[in-house]
Amino acid sequence: MVRHHRRQSRLRDAFLAILALLAVTAVPARGLADCGRDGVTILGSPDERDEACAALGEVIGHFADGGLVVDLRVTIRFQPSVVIERDGDAAVSPTGGEQHQASGFYHIARREIWVTRSTSAWTHRRRPWNLPWDRPLALSILKHEIAHAIIYQLLGADHRKLPRAWHEALAYAVQIELMPPDLRARILARYPDRGAFSSTLHINDIVYGIDPDSFAVAAYKTYVQGGRMTFLRRAISLQFEMIDMDHMPP
Ligand SMILES: [Zn+2]
Repeated sequence: MVRHHRRQSRLRDAFLAILALLAVTAVPARGLADCGRDGVTILGSPDERDEACAALGEVIGHFADGGLVVDLRVTIRFQPSVVIERDGDAAVSPTGGEQHQASGFYHIARREIWVTRSTSAWTHRRRPWNLPWDRPLALSILKHEIAHAIIYQLLGADHRKLPRAWHEALAYAVQIELMPPDLRARILARYPDRGAFSSTLHINDIVYGIDPDSFAVAAYKTYVQGGRMTFLRRAISLQFEMIDMDHMPP
């Protein structure tokens, strides 16, 4: 009887050990968080995971309110810094193969968002809108990348038909729309003379490349003037005249 008990308790110990092992190994396999959404994995601190879930809900909800419902598949990685490598997709990496530091990045093929931690020291000479790198700004960059991810998923194989500058214009518009009002006001106040684009033909790589921060403000104002999600829906239905300036004769 004693031996039997001992064997039972050894069996129980072994069983508990296996359970503990399963619990440990199951965590990385499942992903650390999924915000209750299939297909979403977030790799970051508990605070970052909570913030990312809230940001995802907000951006997905914004698109859904505009009639664009998406079951987003994405992995979000919070990183000390984001360096875009040579194999970064050209559609979101404007430097033509050079390495550069970015606040955030959407890797199309991997369906991954890489975002610089809000607690990281910002060492690069260029910061978005030249603002201090802090939590509200970092979160708004995350929303920009989530907007990219949603638009790429909505477009599917057609994503290359929407020129890169349009992808950026729409992501910036949604980013600025979903900013805390005081952050948005600070940015808009820096560009008092920047209006909406007078023609959607100005949404091109040259205008974007000259000054992305100013381009972003114009994109936001164009989006507001065009009826916000009405404008975005028309754009991703490719219903504007779109000329890729890269392919224009010199
Ligand atoms: Zn972008």
